Amino acid sequence: MPDMSPKKVVIPEQEPTVRNKNFKEVSLGYTLEMAQKEADRCLNCKNSPCTKGCPVNVQIPDFIRLIKDGDIEGAYYKISETSSLPAICGRVCPQENQCEKNCVRGIKGEPVGIGRLERFAADYMLNKPVKQEKAESNGKKVAVVGSGPSSLACAGDLAKMGYEVTMFEALNKAGGVLVYGIPEFRLPKKEIVEVEINKLKELGVKIELNVIVGKSINIDELMNEEGFSAVFIGSGAGLPKFMGIPGESLNGVYSANEFLTRINLMNAYKWPECDTPINVGKNVAVVGGGNVAMDAARSAKRLGAENVYIVYRRSQEELPARKEEVHHAKEEEIEFKMLTNPLEITGTEDGWVNGIKCVEMELGEPDASGRRRPVEKAGSEYIIDVDTVIMAIGQSPNPLIKNTTKGLETHPWGGIVVDEKTGKTSIDGVYAGGDAVTGAATVILAMGAGKTAAKSIDEYLKNK
Ligand SMILES: Cc1cc2nc3c(=O)[nH]c(=O)nc-3n(C[C@H](O)[C@H](O)[C@H](O)COP(=O)(O)OP(=O)(O)OC[C@H]3O[C@@H](n4cnc5c(N)ncnc54)[C@H](O)[C@@H]3O)c2cc1C
Repeated sequence: MPDMSPKKVVIPEQEPTVRNKNFKEVSLGYTLEMAQKEADRCLNCKNSPCTKGCPVNVQIPDFIRLIKDGDIEGAYYKISETSSLPAICGRVCPQENQCEKNCVRGIKGEPVGIGRLERFAADYMLNKPVKQEKAESNGKKVAVVGSGPSSLACAGDLAKMGYEVTMFEALNKAGGVLVYGIPEFRLPKKEIVEVEINKLKELGVKIELNVIVGKSINIDELMNEEGFSAVFIGSGAGLPKFMGIPGESLNGVYSANEFLTRINLMNAYKWPECDTPINVGKNVAVVGGGNVAMDAARSAKRLGAENVYIVYRRSQEELPARKEEVHHAKEEEIEFKMLTNPLEITGTEDGWVNGIKCVEMELGEPDASGRRRPVEKAGSEYIIDVDTVIMAIGQSPNPLIKNTTKGLETHPWGGIVVDEKTGKTSIDGVYAGGDAVTGAATVILAMGAGKTAAKSIDEYLKNK
């Protein structure tokens, strides 16, 4: 008989008032005993609705059963049949909208903690040798642009098929948003992301850092001069958006992208033991309601800000961030100003931020997205005193690759146009996936797109 308790086994975490002052991981993960108790809540449904909710089709009941039986290594390999980055997805996937949303146990209580169990199985294997089967080299070279989850998945699968893969990354570290965006307290870099990247190196993937495709070299040169038979573009959506309101060029206004990159990639949180300082005042407003906004707000708090506000124009129910991140942010004393829209950032005479003028909103008729459109409440303007404003209202693909690749078709908003089933772009031999195609989305969707493209590249090169 399965364990019918309505709640998930509690996962140990650092205390909120302790963790909001350090960058160590918040969640400490299940022990074997906890994981097996949670696995025991799974009903092992025959039609596996959870698997249908997983964008990469992880065979969830099967891996959970293996955990229940004590075969944790087997559970890891079961997940790895379809997922390239289980330790990462177990930590950052929005499970509540995917696998866990479909879990039958969620009807009368909490769904099975599928993400927590995935993380447990993946962490168990982190420092153990992992079997990676690799076909003999076929001598064909494939270039991969970027090193985020879409590129990691594509490169890994191609290397296993026997291709010689070289990854070109603009930054000085591989990993994309996993290293420069998502903070250490949610996704440890050395212990988790580096381990995944090392697995690719073991497969023979070469990683060339500090190479900006479109500046250092372009796609045409890669294919016609450097001998690459195919290219995968996984360049992400790293161009921050601003609101276009007065005051956005004042000192003390950051894009979330710059703020988080300074902290994560350049280790500004270790200042003065690093080269990159970061200026966080006493009072910080973060504009936006997604994961990026939560990460920026929680990082600002850890850097010593006394009051950190999330300013979001819609209501609590519409916050796009993962539920867990919102819950953690609240526990960490981040203040949520819902139905509030910024009108202007105000500044001192010498050009520093001193406030953010906002207006209260109320929900009107549904808009094209089906969500009720927020409309301004007349006469409700007020100023929040802040010395730092972080804009986290979205990112779009950087136009560099589009501008330097003749014949590459893109949407008017910048995303690369691909065939949905194969990831093929308008150029023969050039494939794309992840945020560069969809706009800002999720790790698992990017990973899935990288895997799809790897399969298509293999078919293309086999038939060529
Ligand atoms: C702060 C933050 C928090 C997030 N939290 C979550 C979360 O909790 N859960 C979740 O599922 N998703 C989350 N996301 C979204 C998720 O991280 C992305 O959807 C995912 O990383 C996209 O993967 P990608 O491979 O398409 O691109 P990226 O991860 O963006 O990687 C693209 C890489 O390409 C490189 N690049 C760009 N242009 C060039 C060029 N011209 N030449 C060479 N290299 C280039 C970039 O430097 C970068 O390293 C978050 C995103 C951010 C920013």
